[in-house]
Amino acid sequence: MGGTKRLCRPVILMGPPGAGKGTQAQVLAARYGVPHIATGDMFREHVRQGTPLGREAEAYMRRGELVPDRVVVAMLAERIGRPDCAAGFILDGFPRTVAQAEVLDRLLAEAGWPPPLVVHFAVAHGVLLRRLAGRRVCTVGGEIYNIYDHPPKVAGRCDHDGGELVQRPDDSEEVIQERLVTYQQHTLPVLDYYRRAGLVEEVNGEGTPEQVTAAVVALVEKIVCRDGRL
Ligand code: AMP
Repeated sequence: MGGTKRLCRPVILMGPPGAGKGTQAQVLAARYGVPHIATGDMFREHVRQGTPLGREAEAYMRRGELVPDRVVVAMLAERIGRPDCAAGFILDGFPRTVAQAEVLDRLLAEAGWPPPLVVHFAVAHGVLLRRLAGRRVCTVGGEIYNIYDHPPKVAGRCDHDGGELVQRPDDSEEVIQERLVTYQQHTLPVLDYYRRAGLVEEVNGEGTPEQVTAAVVALVEKIVCRDGRL
């Protein structure tokens, strides 16, 4: 089938830190040609550039706490209003509170979007800890590696561009625990919120990245529309 391809619904990837949202979002964004919107990445970029927003966010991020809703929502609203989101987009790490989900509902409705497809990655606690402790990220392109399960060909260097691989400051053991608690307290209720609306599709997030991609793509293929039709 020819014609322009687009995603007919926004996609939200949900799951605890280390569930594989970022890894899968990168693959999906490349495959479908839509933006990967990761609020955590956006904050890290602000921190790197030393903007006022970055300075405000950094204190929360360092402790493994959530940045206040008003800050996140303003940043997200501006991002999904940009023209590159017209053919769909993938949200990774947003919404993380029920209040954020409620604002998102309103923003999507105002922009004429149907309800989102919410993909939930289920991953056991022990697997999350190993993934977070082993995670390394390319300082150039943001590619995600794991020193145990998905090491780079050359230690400390990105396979794509040779960029330096670093550990996120909040991937320290202490902050990991806090982020997992934050997830339980604030973000699990978001999953229930979407479950009640019948929007959640479950994926086993414990397979290899390729296995998980196959499961997610099977779901996303159902919301690809060509020439405006499903
Ligand atoms: P992430 O890269 O998604 O793990 O996010 C890193 C950190 O950024 C989180 O621990 C929070 O401090 C902050 N953050 C990212 N997204 C949000 C959000 N939607 N709401 C509040 N804080 C967020």
